[in-house]
Amino acid sequence: MFHWLSSYNYDFALAAIPIQLILLAFYCSRRNLPVRSSHSFLWVMLFNLTMTASDLISCEMNEIWTQYPLWLMYVVNQAYFLSFIGRGWALFDYTAEECCSYDAMGRSSRLLSWIPAIGVSLLILSTPWTAAIFHFAPDRGYYNCEFYRSIYFSTYFYIAVSLLSVVVRWRRIPLRLKASVLGYNGVLIAGILLRKLFINTLVTSYFSILAILVIYLSAQNPDLYRDKRTLLFNQDAFDKIGAEFLRRGHTFHCILATVLNYESAKALYGHRQLDRSLQKLGRWMVTRFPGYYVFYFGNGNYLMLRQVSFQEHQEEILQSMREHFEQSWTSEDTDVVLSMAVMVLPCQALPREVARAHDLIGYAFSQAYVENKRGNMVITEEMEAQIQRQEAVEAALGRALDERRVEAYFQPIYSTAEERIVGAEALARLWDPKLGFISPVEFIRVAERTGDIMELGRQIFEKVCIFLEQEHPEELGIQCINVNLSPAQCLNDQLSSELSAIAHAHNVPMSMIDFEITETSIEDFLLIQKQMLRLQKRGAEFSLDDFGMGTSNLTRLMSLPIHVVKLDMNVVNAYFNGESGILPDLVRMFQNANMKIVVEGVETEQMKVELADMGCDYEQGYYFSRPVPPTEFLNYLHAQRQMA
Ligand code: C2E
Ligand code: MG
Ligand code: MG
Repeated sequence: MFHWLSSYNYDFALAAIPIQLILLAFYCSRRNLPVRSSHSFLWVMLFNLTMTASDLISCEMNEIWTQYPLWLMYVVNQAYFLSFIGRGWALFDYTAEECCSYDAMGRSSRLLSWIPAIGVSLLILSTPWTAAIFHFAPDRGYYNCEFYRSIYFSTYFYIAVSLLSVVVRWRRIPLRLKASVLGYNGVLIAGILLRKLFINTLVTSYFSILAILVIYLSAQNPDLYRDKRTLLFNQDAFDKIGAEFLRRGHTFHCILATVLNYESAKALYGHRQLDRSLQKLGRWMVTRFPGYYVFYFGNGNYLMLRQVSFQEHQEEILQSMREHFEQSWTSEDTDVVLSMAVMVLPCQALPREVARAHDLIGYAFSQAYVENKRGNMVITEEMEAQIQRQEAVEAALGRALDERRVEAYFQPIYSTAEERIVGAEALARLWDPKLGFISPVEFIRVAERTGDIMELGRQIFEKVCIFLEQEHPEELGIQCINVNLSPAQCLNDQLSSELSAIAHAHNVPMSMIDFEITETSIEDFLLIQKQMLRLQKRGAEFSLDDFGMGTSNLTRLMSLPIHVVKLDMNVVNAYFNGESGILPDLVRMFQNANMKIVVEGVETEQMKVELADMGCDYEQGYYFSRPVPPTEFLNYLHAQRQMA
């Protein structure tokens, strides 16, 4: 057994040293977040190591102090006391950084927090001359002096203010951080109490290392901020860095790069191959964009952040983006081809609130392709305004649905064979007290995203049924009413039973309803087909809406129970503007397939006549009437009847 000179029990202190060394080595071998709390944590570990080592050394040397020069004895003991104070301060500093307390309390609060540590450090440094903290007397060697307790005062003070910063910021900090801060301060307090109980055992450094472990495991493990697939920083890392840069007023910009063919690449190459390529793509970004921190947000979305003003280096940054991302990226050994879209996000456009920032970034990733196509590569504050508008629309729609205020307007459908109005399309209308009239194009998209489309669909369908039940428009020649069905509604397995229950409750036969479904979103084809067949069984019929807007698989289309095709008004307009002559060919094709044809966007007498001559069966458009409220629609039908 090693023979120690001092009567102190070193077991705990000795055990703490290798743990601290391992943690330190592990921590330094990883790339840590460039944020202040990481630096503070590193200081905590360095102070703790110095404190533990100097504690052991000074205790031993104090036993045989006469063998060393007096100045060395002072230096060794001062090193212990200074690192003790330093550790206490650094732990508080770490807590304050994590809880953003300095920012909440003003910039000078950081300087103010140094005062106790600096005061006690001055006492320690002056000790050789003032004997403030300790002294060496010829007869008894080392002994504690009058201000020795100030060491503990400083420690208590920093623990108290750490706890205070958590309490003050309680509502704003995440649960994990609260648990972590309370946990390590609790461990420190336990250490102090035990030290008092077992005066001859050096336990402080042991409890210190336990506190450090709590921090490491709960918040400072570099793996918490790393994406496992690409080994890049992850979204949590971005939240910390971005939030800190914004708080501190740093100028920076981000480049958002998204893999456009992520889903198809997954299907084509498989998970493993794609993951490998995503990792390589990440590494490629790291080497091609030096000075940037590269993050991976999942689903083929990368973000690069650099502390450089976009405004000042605009041309250079955009040029580099064009150079690197215009061509698809290919990995040399796997042949995986990934095509990318990119957007720059200057820090001025980044909202300060994390949730908002995520909304904007998510939105930018989703819009990058469209914006790039338009020649735009910069995210502006207007995009943030668009998101806010979407949120306002979402809230307005929610209120309107709660109060059942969404209205159904009707737009007549004219039969070219019978030369009169035989149907109508029901179109949703939303008027909000705050936002005024909101276009269905806008709120339908929002409703599809939030899932409100289900309720909206039910309410509009019910209003149509009530109209049919109360007004009997069939007596005025109406054969059926067209109701738009969003493909998102077909995801509801109960759709057909819900809708037929509503129709049944209002004594409306389903044969009075013709559902319009858009061709652009026949992606969940099988699901949609299933719902259509169920509704068809109950008597409903189907039209394909907006044909000519998207790209359709015609064979697949023909396998749906569709009897009417509505040609989109863009196709009709293109014909009358002389931009495209495809309209007559389309009409002939659907005639051959025994489908009825409706043309949308008929605005003039000339269009009406020519389209009828071309062989279109039905016409709809402003020429006949705009979409109008139910009573106006009835008046329109009465007027038409009188004219006839
Ligand atoms: P849609 O189903 O293609 O409806 C036709 C749109 O064209 C309507 O726009 C109508 O007002 C407009 N329109 C009709 N004739 C003319 C014309 O001659 N000239 C011009 N410029 N426009 C004309 P609206 O009402 O703004 O609706 C837009 C889209 O919103 C609809 O397109 C439909 O896809 C969707 N939508 C509307 N109501 C509902 C609904 O209750 N449920 C669902 N799922 N979607 C709906
Ligand atoms: Mg429609
Ligand atoms: Mg349409």
